[in-house]
Amino acid sequence: MTSEMPFSSAKALDRYLSNHSSRFAFNGQAFEEWQNQFTSSLKEYLGPFPEEPSQLNAQVVSTEKFEKFTLHKVVYYSRQDSSVPAYLLVPHKIKEKSPAVLCIHGHVPEGKADLVFGDGKFGIPYGRELAEKGIVTLCPDNAGMGERAHPSGGCDFLWRRLNLLGYDLTGYRVYDLIRGVDYLQGLPEVDETRIGVAGLSGGCWLGIVHAALDCRIQAAILSGYFTTFAQTSWFGHCICHHPKGIGELCDIPDIAGLIAPRPIFIEWGDQDKSRPVHPAFETAQKIYSAANAEDRITLHEFDGGHVFLGQRSIPWLIQELSG
Ligand SMILES: [Zn+2]
Repeated sequence: MTSEMPFSSAKALDRYLSNHSSRFAFNGQAFEEWQNQFTSSLKEYLGPFPEEPSQLNAQVVSTEKFEKFTLHKVVYYSRQDSSVPAYLLVPHKIKEKSPAVLCIHGHVPEGKADLVFGDGKFGIPYGRELAEKGIVTLCPDNAGMGERAHPSGGCDFLWRRLNLLGYDLTGYRVYDLIRGVDYLQGLPEVDETRIGVAGLSGGCWLGIVHAALDCRIQAAILSGYFTTFAQTSWFGHCICHHPKGIGELCDIPDIAGLIAPRPIFIEWGDQDKSRPVHPAFETAQKIYSAANAEDRITLHEFDGGHVFLGQRSIPWLIQELSG
């Protein structure tokens, strides 16, 4: 039995895809009007979000000293009854208010631990790397992963439960990240005007959406998932990267274009064939040009696979947040 069987819908769906267009696909419109209308529609698709932020009620659960930073295990409440465990890494060498980076983990069961204690399978543990270079980092667990994994299942389980309630999993996770920025801005060590994000894979997807919706993010490293829905979700990948009905609205690089004129640095290993960066990069480049910010989008295409490289992106982010 293959997709060639006469009653298969596969060919019909491929045909629908070839004729498909999205409402906010960027076609050279006036940038600001497109950005304003698309941002409000995207919020509606990914919401609902709480009307008023609840108390964070953040607590430090434990503290451990490492050679170059102190690691605090913290818990903050993104919603009144929903807690988020996270690692907060504070470098020893900071003497005044420091830039901070919200590090978003990829699609791994270890969650935040991969950002600090990762074994290199997915590149450098960027939460730790940035802290060792003097940046405060916050590394939360995404809903459904790390300490927030549900014994009955992962993303699919959570997606179905949220869908029943009219919520979207990407929106749910992004709101946790928005509250993570609230938490960082309240820390005495952090300069609230110099906050960035960094993410690989599923963390890249969330970083794109988070930076698009949260203007407090000054710069972003987007690694390993700067691609299009038709080149990824169409062939597989987890449902959690794919909000219900999103194709009616936009594609991934359109969302990245909402970040303009704030700077983004994209990384992609050319052996990562199931998440191709072309033509998503060129689409985002056109949007950045329309925003008169063509010099604020950078691509580092390297010889490698699905990893966070950091070779050029980390010095770039530190420079952007130090300026
Ligand atoms: Zn998932």
